[in-house]
Amino acid sequence: MTATAATTTMKSFVFDGLNKVAVVDREVPRPGPNDAVVKTTAALICTSDIHTVRGALPVEHGRALGHEAVGVVHELGSAVEGFEVGQRVLSAATTPCLQCHPCQRGYTSQCQGALGAYKFTVQRDGNMAEYFLVNDAVGNLTAIPDDVADEQAVYAPDMLTTGFAGAEHAELEIGDTVVVFAQGAVGLCATMGCKLRGAGLIITVESIPRRQELSRRFGADIVVDHTAGDTVGQIMELTGGEGVDAAIEAFGFPQTWEAALYVTKPGGRVSNIGYHGEVAEPLKVPLDAFGLGMADKQIWGGLCPGGSERMHRLLRLLQSGKIDPTPMTTHEFGFHEIEKAFRMMENKEDGMIKPLIRF
Ligand SMILES: [Zn+2]
Ligand SMILES: [Zn+2]
Repeated sequence: MTATAATTTMKSFVFDGLNKVAVVDREVPRPGPNDAVVKTTAALICTSDIHTVRGALPVEHGRALGHEAVGVVHELGSAVEGFEVGQRVLSAATTPCLQCHPCQRGYTSQCQGALGAYKFTVQRDGNMAEYFLVNDAVGNLTAIPDDVADEQAVYAPDMLTTGFAGAEHAELEIGDTVVVFAQGAVGLCATMGCKLRGAGLIITVESIPRRQELSRRFGADIVVDHTAGDTVGQIMELTGGEGVDAAIEAFGFPQTWEAALYVTKPGGRVSNIGYHGEVAEPLKVPLDAFGLGMADKQIWGGLCPGGSERMHRLLRLLQSGKIDPTPMTTHEFGFHEIEKAFRMMENKEDGMIKPLIRF
């Protein structure tokens, strides 16, 4: 049935208890009727994997980490049509069922309930493994065009879709002013998204020189260094005291969250793509930043949109050369070095932004 059906065991990089990770031997997953099993060729480690190992989410001991991977079709479920064994594919980090009520309402990231489309690692094994299973493959599996390399395509499953969602939820109109807080990989992708959406002035907030440089390269007009003085004050001054049409919070800390509310002008939008579980306190909405509750400001917090239609659109941008996220790949490792790569990512050692893992 498949070219490599004889392969039954694989290596998998797993959560091994709080603050512990391990490489273990596992059975290669077998697909149910609607699933596909993919042989991994490349993956990116995500800060979300670090959060998971630190206990951000209740995850079963021994669960495989990872949700940003590309590969080739290894085995298809009996009901999966439109793909072939050996074909290059990916799936988004979120894999919605596309049938439940939240999915039908268009909120596929909230499949079957809050954040429910985030199934890799949370509900079953992730894809930092030699093989991985994709549920509801007809709607989630996406063919990678021949002229898009693995190292480009691997940005689509989470970084691009999440960053661009930040810009989309900011509802940017051509010529708008926008600020993006933090220029890690997701923030950098949000900056790219603001440029694609036609923002007239893109301000970003970042202090690390390498990230500042990438920020300018991806579309920032002005990079504000938050270590050089009051961030809100700097942004207000840059906008003539008016504030921005939209603020994108890609950091996930109370200070940046509140700053985003302060710098957004009345009638503007605050778009959150930052993970706020690290501090784990209620998010505050200061009254003076929100017009005593009546500022006509909108807040939208969203999780990584998935589905193959979304992935096709992102791959099209890579294919046409309109974007190139690969300068964010600061390091490259073989899968046998995964633990080393993960430990470096924990503290973003050696200026690490995204480490690419080759299988
Ligand atoms: Zn991720
Ligand atoms: Zn669903």
